[in-house]
Amino acid sequence: MDIELSTEDLAFKAEVKEFFHDNQMKKGEDYFSWRSRWFEKAKEKGGWDVPKWPLEFGGPGWTPTQHYIWEQETSRATLPFDLPFGTSMLAPILMGYGNKEQQDRFLPDIRARKVNWCQGYSETGAGSDLANLKTKAELSEDGTYYTVNGSKIWTTAAHMADWIFCLTRTDDSGIKQKGITFLLFPMKQEGIEVTPIITLGGSHTVNTVHFTDVKVPVENRIGEEGKGWTYAKGLLQHERTGLAGLSRSLVALESLKENARSVVRGNGTLMDDPGYKAKIAELEIDLMASEYTELRCLASASAGAELGPESSILKLKGTEIQQRIQKLIVEASGIYSPAWGDQSVGLPFAKGGTAGYLSSRAYTIFGGASEVQRDVIAKNVLGLTKGSTK
Ligand SMILES: Cc1cc2nc3c(=O)[nH]c(=O)nc-3n(C[C@H](O)[C@H](O)[C@H](O)COP(=O)(O)OP(=O)(O)OC[C@H]3O[C@@H](n4cnc5c(N)ncnc54)[C@H](O)[C@@H]3O)c2cc1C
Repeated sequence: MDIELSTEDLAFKAEVKEFFHDNQMKKGEDYFSWRSRWFEKAKEKGGWDVPKWPLEFGGPGWTPTQHYIWEQETSRATLPFDLPFGTSMLAPILMGYGNKEQQDRFLPDIRARKVNWCQGYSETGAGSDLANLKTKAELSEDGTYYTVNGSKIWTTAAHMADWIFCLTRTDDSGIKQKGITFLLFPMKQEGIEVTPIITLGGSHTVNTVHFTDVKVPVENRIGEEGKGWTYAKGLLQHERTGLAGLSRSLVALESLKENARSVVRGNGTLMDDPGYKAKIAELEIDLMASEYTELRCLASASAGAELGPESSILKLKGTEIQQRIQKLIVEASGIYSPAWGDQSVGLPFAKGGTAGYLSSRAYTIFGGASEVQRDVIAKNVLGLTKGSTK
């Protein structure tokens, strides 16, 4: 495996750094004007506003190594807020399975960040076992529209979303994975009720969404009726790799070490405490090992391989690492960590430590719980079967 950066890759890295530097938000600049300008400039660079899109849809057509460099640099820079649901999650589905009319209708607004999307997959009783979903879509007699009834839960940003991409059941006569249909529809219409769920960390990001007789024109169906499971599954592997957040963890670990050096412990600092130092070292080793796994995936992607079940290894390890970092932040912050909201007491980095720790409990649940990732790894990476002892 060759993980040395080539001269071209190093030049690309410098170009990315320069772009982030030149397009920082200026003092006093309006946030939303900066955000629009940032995406425009990124588009002018040749698809940098949609890094993961392929060349034929206006993306940059980067090599896997360039993607890796981009990820690393974005975690060190301040980028405008960008929810993943449109550009990173729905767009690949539209490109792969949507018809030309749907691509022309939805992709430009997704790219321009004009329309906010949310993901309507999970339901009560259909999280890990997603194929168990019950939200019903019934086709009208004349075949022109579906009527949707049911509920989704844990829908991130549903309260800010203009549209939802939603898994519905159109047939329950066969196996669970069959009879699932992928529909797109606007959120701001009669028959849709969004109720907030306040999470442990005290924030409102997730919701329940109830549908009562919501009418969805048949032209808003992606692909064939009953084949939604196939389309939905592809998205999960991309979602999982994105959630690993290894480059962000590298940066977070660097600043954790720096902050720990500012915490007085005995005659020295927290970083002189052997117990704390050992935990940091273990974390650093695991992070490095996960990075190598990511690089191995990139190396095989460079050789033309599809993203496979390795994404589960990255999701599993990456999210556990993020949680361990949050735990060490709380340990370093001590009594100052529980300060909530805008309060800042004692150590400046301690603000929101506990809230961050509590929020991080969800990392090993969303995008597929850790137990589920372990199942995928056992079956599809290690080749183990139920009851297997090898
Ligand atoms: C903050 C947050 C944001 C989310 N955002 C979205 C969103 O935008 N859209 C969306 O559709 N969903 C979203 N989800 C839902 C998320 O995908 C589900 O919570 C997740 O898939 C787990 O499903 P569940 O909550 O129903 O738990 P369950 O599936 O009921 O699992 C409960 C427990 O049982 C364990 N378990 C389940 N199956 C197995 C198994 N086969 N073997 C061993 N153990 C098992 C799990 O690991 C878990 O510990 C979000 C969740 C959270 C917490």
